Amino acid sequence: MKILAVDDSATDRYLIQNILSDYQLVMAADGLDGLQKLFEDDEIRLIILDLNMPVMDGFQMLKSMKSNPRYKDMRVIILSSFDEIENELAGLKLGAVDYIRKPIHPETLRVRIDIHVQLLEIQKTLEERVYNQGLTFDIMFEQSPIGVAISDSNQMEKEIALPVFDIMNPMFEQIIGRVVKEARQVDWKKITHPDDRQEEQENFRLLSAGQTERYSMEKRYFRPDGSIVWVFMVVASLNVLGESGRRYVCLAQDITKRKEAENALAESERSKSVLLSHLPGLAYRCDFVPDWTMRFVSQGCLKLTGYPVESLLNNRDVTYNEIIAPEYREPVWNECVRCAQEHISFKFEYEILTASGKRKWVLEVGEAIFNDQDEAYAFEGIVIDISERKVVENKLKYNYEHDINTGLYNRAALEALLENDWHESHQEKRAVISINLNTVQSLSVVYGHHYTLDLIKQVAEILKPFSSDNYLLFSTYVDRFAFYVRGYRDKQELLRFCEKIAEDLKAFLISERLGGGIGIIEINDDKRWNTERLLKNLLITSENAVRLQEFAIRFYDDQVEKQIEREKEIERTLNRIINKDLHAEFSLDFQPILDLETGQVCGFESLARMNSLNLGRVAPLDFIPISEKTKLIVPLGYKIFEMAFRFLKIIEAQGYTELRIGVNVSIIQFREKGFIKGLFKLVEEMEINPQMITIEITESFFESDFNAMNKILMALMEAGFKISIDDFGTGYSTLSREQDLNVNYLKIDKSFVDKLMTSPPEKVIIAEIISMAHKQRHHVVAEGVEYETQRELLKKFGCDMIQGYLVSKPLSEMDALAFLKKIEFDKNSSQKSC
Ligand code: C2E
Ligand code: CA
Ligand code: CA
Repeated sequence: MKILAVDDSATDRYLIQNILSDYQLVMAADGLDGLQKLFEDDEIRLIILDLNMPVMDGFQMLKSMKSNPRYKDMRVIILSSFDEIENELAGLKLGAVDYIRKPIHPETLRVRIDIHVQLLEIQKTLEERVYNQGLTFDIMFEQSPIGVAISDSNQMEKEIALPVFDIMNPMFEQIIGRVVKEARQVDWKKITHPDDRQEEQENFRLLSAGQTERYSMEKRYFRPDGSIVWVFMVVASLNVLGESGRRYVCLAQDITKRKEAENALAESERSKSVLLSHLPGLAYRCDFVPDWTMRFVSQGCLKLTGYPVESLLNNRDVTYNEIIAPEYREPVWNECVRCAQEHISFKFEYEILTASGKRKWVLEVGEAIFNDQDEAYAFEGIVIDISERKVVENKLKYNYEHDINTGLYNRAALEALLENDWHESHQEKRAVISINLNTVQSLSVVYGHHYTLDLIKQVAEILKPFSSDNYLLFSTYVDRFAFYVRGYRDKQELLRFCEKIAEDLKAFLISERLGGGIGIIEINDDKRWNTERLLKNLLITSENAVRLQEFAIRFYDDQVEKQIEREKEIERTLNRIINKDLHAEFSLDFQPILDLETGQVCGFESLARMNSLNLGRVAPLDFIPISEKTKLIVPLGYKIFEMAFRFLKIIEAQGYTELRIGVNVSIIQFREKGFIKGLFKLVEEMEINPQMITIEITESFFESDFNAMNKILMALMEAGFKISIDDFGTGYSTLSREQDLNVNYLKIDKSFVDKLMTSPPEKVIIAEIISMAHKQRHHVVAEGVEYETQRELLKKFGCDMIQGYLVSKPLSEMDALAFLKKIEFDKNSSQKSC
C-alpha cells in the first residue's frame, strides 16, 4: 500500500516525506502530476492532496478522480489553510475523507495518516477474512499502536444511536482507561465530554443513515478517574459483502499532549494580548544600547510618558534614556547590563520624566535577548506606572519608621538598624543610649495626655541638636528617646555626651518638677545578644538610672546584669508560688492597727512575704513590681485574698469577731476583667463577711480613669467591703479631689508622720489632712508610727488609728495570734489590778 502526496510546496513535500518516512510514498508537484502517478501505480490507496496548486489544483484533481470508477475507494486527505474553511467543505463534498490544516503539524499529520491507513488495512483484512478466515486480522488488531474498537451489527444504543463496542484492542482500552466489559456498562454520555456530544451524535446519525461512510473528529473521553483524554478518531461502517445489519469500526489515537500544548499556547497568547492592552504602562522591545533605541512600543506609551508611540520609535523625537529621570539613568543601565551578564530577568523601580516634565514612579521588568554567540542584542520588557502605590508606600514607610508626635525615627527604625548591624562585622565601637522620662506619665493625670505629648515634643527639640551622623536620634516610646552611637572613642566620650544632655534636660524640666534617667549599653560581639535582649536590658538600665537620682547616667554592667538575673529568679519563684499549693516560699505577715480612741487593736494589715529558695527573703518592694510587670499579681492576688480570709476565719473562731483584715490590691488586679466577680465568688465560697475586709489601694489607682475606677469602688462598698487609700498624700492626684473619693479610710504616708518629729509646719499639714478627711467622713490611719511623741501628736490632731513599729512590727500568723492573746491577758490582769 502506497501513499501519494500532491503538493506544489517543496518544503511541505519534504516535511511530509520526513514525517511519513516509514510509509511507501509517491510524490507529485501538482494535480496533473498527481493524476499521472495515480494512473501509473496500482498500489496507491491514500492521497494527501494540497488544494492550492498551479497547473491543476486539488479540486480539479478530485473532480477528475470522482468521474473515474477506478478510484471509487481512494481515500483523500486534503491540505488546507486556516482561512479556507469553505474549501474544506467543498473538498469533503468531493469525496475527501479528512483534512489537515497548514502549516503542517507533524503530529497531526502522523495521527491522521496512521489512522486512515489502519482503517484501510482493517477493511482489507476483513474482506479477505470473509473468504479465508485468516488470522492476520487478529494479530494486527492485538498489536496495533492505534486504538481499535468494533461494534457488533445488532447492537446499537437506541436512544442516542451510537455504536456499542463489542471488541476493543488493548490500545483502545488503554486510551479510554476501561476494558471492554466496563466500557459496555457505562453510558456513552458519561464518558464523552459534554462539548463533544452533539457533534458526535450528528456525525453518527449521518453514518448510520448511510449518508456518509465514515466520520473523523477530535473528541474528549473521561477516564474512570475523571481525567480527560483527547483522541483523534475515525469511525467508519464496516459492511462487508454478504453481511446484514451494520458494523462499525472506530480508530483512535491519544492526542492529549498536543492538545494541552496547543491550549497552553493559545491561553498564553490570549493573556499576553489582554495584558498588553490593559497594561498600566508600556511594553517595548529595544536594542541593547544605553539610549534604549526602541523598536517596538505598545499603545500605553502615551498615557505613561506623555509621548506618542512614534516619538519614541527609533529615537525619532526622544530616546527612552532621556525619559528616565537623570539620577536613575546610570544605575538602571548598569543593572540592566548586570542582569544580562547573569542571564537573569531585570527588575527596577525608578522615576521617569513625562513629556510635561512631571515625575512618575515606574517599575520596569525586562529580559535581554541573545544571539547565537550569546551576546545580548535586544531587550524586551514592560514599564508600569506605580506612582499611586509609591505614594501610599512612602507614607506607610514614613509612618512605620517615624514617631508621629516628634517626627523622629521610631523604635521600629532603630530595631531595623540594629538588626541589620548584627550581621555585619564592625571595626568601629557601637553603643545605644536611652533617655528615660517615665516620670512624665504622672503629669498626664493632672494636665491631660496632650500636655505631656507637647512636653515630650519640646524635649525632642532639645535633643535634636545633639543628633549627628555618629549619634542617631530615635523616639523609641512615648517617654523615651535613644541615640544609636557608631564610631565613638571611649566610655569617656559617651559619658561627656550624656552629661551635656542631662544638663540641658534638667534645666528644662526643673520647672515641671520632673526627673529622668540615662542608660547606656556598649555593644560587644557577644553572640548571645540580639536586638530584643539589647533593648530590654537598655530599658532596665535606664529605669535603674531613674531610681538612682535626677538624671543619673548608668552604664550597663555586671551589676545591672546581676539585677536582671535576680529579677528573672524572682519571676521563677513567683511562678512556683502560683503553681504549687505548697507555698513554703510565700506567706503573709499581719501588722496590728490600733484605734486611738479606744486604745484597742481594731484590725491587721496583711503584708506579703517571699522567702525564695535561691534568694532567701525578698522584700515586697522588689517582688510586687515584678509580679505587676509580668501580670503574675493576678493569680498571686487571689492567693493573698484566700490566705487573708483564712486568717480572718481563725481569729473569728478564737472569738475576735470585731477585727478587720486589710488586703493590699494592685491596680493591675483591678484592670483584669472578672476580678470583682472572682473576688465575690471567693467571699461566698469561704463564707466571709465583706464588712470585715478592707481593700487597700494606692492613689495611682485613679491615674488611668478616675470615674471608672471610682465606680468599681462603689460596687465593692455596696457589697460591704471597706476601702482604704494607701500612702495618701504622696501622689499628685487625689489630694485635690478627696471629696469625690468613694472610700472609707485614708492612710497617711509614713513620710508625713516622720516629719512630725522635726519641722513644725508639717504638723499643720497633717492636721489639715485629718480635719479635711473628717469633713468627708473618712477615717484616718497614720502609717509608720515609731515614737510615742508621734502617737501623742496624732491623737491630739484627732487621728483615728495608727499602725507602726510602736504598736508592733508585722507578725507571722502564729505571732499575731500570740499578740492578741497577750494584750487580752494584759487587759484582764490590769482590770484585775484596778
Ligand atoms: P504599704 O502597703 O504601705 O505597707 C506598709 C509598709 O510599711 C510595709 O512594708 C510595712 O512593713 C512597713 N511598716 C509598717 N510600720 C512601719 C514602721 O513603723 N516603720 C517602718 N520603717 N516601716 C513600717 P512592706 O511589708 O515591706 O511592704 C511594702 C509595700 O509592698 C507595701 O506598702 C505594699 O505597697 C506592698 N505590698 C505588701 N504586701 C502586698 C500585697 O499583699 N499586695 C500588694 N499588692 N502589695 C503589697
Ligand atoms: Ca498597705
Ligand atoms: Ca502605705
